[in-house]
Amino acid sequence: MIYRTDYHMHTTFSDGRSSPDDYVGPAAAAGLCEIGFSEHLSLFNGKQDGCMNPDIVSIYTEYIEKLKKNISGITVRTGLEVDFISGMEKEIKVFLGGVDLDYRIGSVHYLGEKTVDHGPEFYEGKNIDKLYEYYFEQVMAAASSGLFDIIGHCDLIRIYGFKPESDPEPLYRKLAKCLKKNNVAFELNTNGRNRPIADFYPDRRFLHIFREEDVPVCVNSDAHIPARVGQYFDEAYELLRDTGFTEMAVFEGRKRRMIPF
Ligand SMILES: [Zn+2]
Ligand SMILES: [Zn+2]
Repeated sequence: MIYRTDYHMHTTFSDGRSSPDDYVGPAAAAGLCEIGFSEHLSLFNGKQDGCMNPDIVSIYTEYIEKLKKNISGITVRTGLEVDFISGMEKEIKVFLGGVDLDYRIGSVHYLGEKTVDHGPEFYEGKNIDKLYEYYFEQVMAAASSGLFDIIGHCDLIRIYGFKPESDPEPLYRKLAKCLKKNNVAFELNTNGRNRPIADFYPDRRFLHIFREEDVPVCVNSDAHIPARVGQYFDEAYELLRDTGFTEMAVFEGRKRRMIPF
């Protein structure tokens, strides 16, 4: 059996629909060997909608630690999906310094005061080329911040299908080089298939760039319900294999290992 992991899942601790316990059975049924929870956490203007209250982070980590001990047959990891907000690196660093995690996912949802995935209105009347540049800039700042082990959905800006006029390939090349330089992994996020863009993140046309730049990868579902754990993973792994990837990143106590798939 191929060793498969899913490190990006949301439960009722943030905006998921079920408790962490409810994910274990479906994960095992989906053939996963290792799962990790990654609740939304944002230090931006205090608690944001859909995020875990930072005050209860120790309740969350203790809950997952208990779950780790109480189940068998599947390995459980503790993670967070933290909003990267430029200018708040220090606050994020101090906060995360006190949290015991197996990995940290850093994601850019906010550009300014608004999230890029809240609705297509965000894009209307805006220069999409500039938005792409700005988004990738923020993702690269997240990667260079030293705060994160994995970058979440690195081109979420594609979500509603607004396309730049210029070829975005150079942005992907720059991002891949930045991830490699800072020793940060990217995820093949299958949840894009459930969103208006109806495809994985990152754009499969540019996946080869991450391979060429030798950026570590993991496959994640970004599930908000147990039924989506490991969703589209057969296709995702096939896509990675076709692109030349042969190993993926696994994490424990923020130490990364690469294992073949
Ligand atoms: Zn996200
Ligand atoms: Zn997520």
